[in-house]
Amino acid sequence: EVAAREKVIEAHELTAKLYHYLLMNTTHGQPALEYLRSRGVTDKQIDHFMIGYAPPEWDTLVRFLLKREFDADLMEKGGLLVAKQDGSGYIDRFRDRIMFPIWNRDGKTIALAGRMLGEGQPKYLNSPETMLFNKSRNFYNFHHSRPAMRKSRRIVLFEGYMDVIKAWSAGVNNGVATMGTALTDEHAALLSRNVDEAILCYDGDSAGQAAVLKSIPILEKVGLRVQVAMLPKGMDPDEYIEAHGANAFMRETIEHPVSVTKFKLIYAKKSHILLEEEGQKNYLLEAVRIIAELDSPTEREFYLKDLSREFEFSLDSLKQDCFQQRQKLQ
Ligand code: ATP
Ligand code: MN
Ligand code: MN
Ligand code: MN
Repeated sequence: EVAAREKVIEAHELTAKLYHYLLMNTTHGQPALEYLRSRGVTDKQIDHFMIGYAPPEWDTLVRFLLKREFDADLMEKGGLLVAKQDGSGYIDRFRDRIMFPIWNRDGKTIALAGRMLGEGQPKYLNSPETMLFNKSRNFYNFHHSRPAMRKSRRIVLFEGYMDVIKAWSAGVNNGVATMGTALTDEHAALLSRNVDEAILCYDGDSAGQAAVLKSIPILEKVGLRVQVAMLPKGMDPDEYIEAHGANAFMRETIEHPVSVTKFKLIYAKKSHILLEEEGQKNYLLEAVRIIAELDSPTEREFYLKDLSREFEFSLDSLKQDCFQQRQKLQ
């Protein structure tokens, strides 16, 4: 009900402020601050994204919230506290983690994500699904990116919080990320109401590239024009920006996305051994199948020509194969 939701939002707002304060102003928060700085996160980014630190104790937030007369059971339902197994009370959900507040579309804090300092599992811990937070509908940074999104009619999709944050400083003010879940139809529907175009900028590892492939039809289905900003093998946007700088990131990746067809061709190519006759043949056939999906004859010819040049194959035979593939698609 409304009053409960308001209370949970209020608690999240206060919690985010508490964690931010602990990060910036206490010796407790020092290692977390140093960790962030070692990763190139600036004070400006920390402020803008209200990054914080949840201390290692079991009951920092429990005491903080109860002192302010929040109902512990409601706080548990809201995802901030966890009920003890033996039913004897509550503990903080987030401990010894760097905290990222998650805002809803109106800019209200509705959930949190916490990252470990250093390596370990689980690297990220998110709030559970609650009356306020639905992972398949919310994006990280949607609220902040709305003005830029509306203006450019375009969105850039990242995989991680750090990617959104670093890219924001690099000049990508319309960047968002899903939160520990794959892109859903609901995500896509929300985007289609705000933009015409989506650029996928996922991690350059195999998981990231596979996720790009999966996300493409989800975005295309709602009528969005899709392009893919590719990163060097194994790098994510955050790492790329740290290694090569913001300018290189904008120039080399964001400002030069490839078409969906080009991406699919590159992806398909990786799974064939082109030095072997069989591998080359299989790639060519798969490439023709990808190109056959295009509705525009001009576009088809564009990619087929590329292919015929690259493999010194006659355009005629590729066109015939493509035609056959299209018959099958009907
Ligand atoms: P970092 O740069 O801090 O190491 P990352 O964003 O590069 O993190 P990835 O492993 O690439 O981390 O994961 C991408 C995103 O997937 C994360 O930002 C987070 O939203 C989500 N994620 C990763 N690991 C987990 C986990 N164990 N539980 C829930 N979500 C996770
Ligand atoms: Mn990854
Ligand atoms: Mn990553
Ligand atoms: Mn990363």
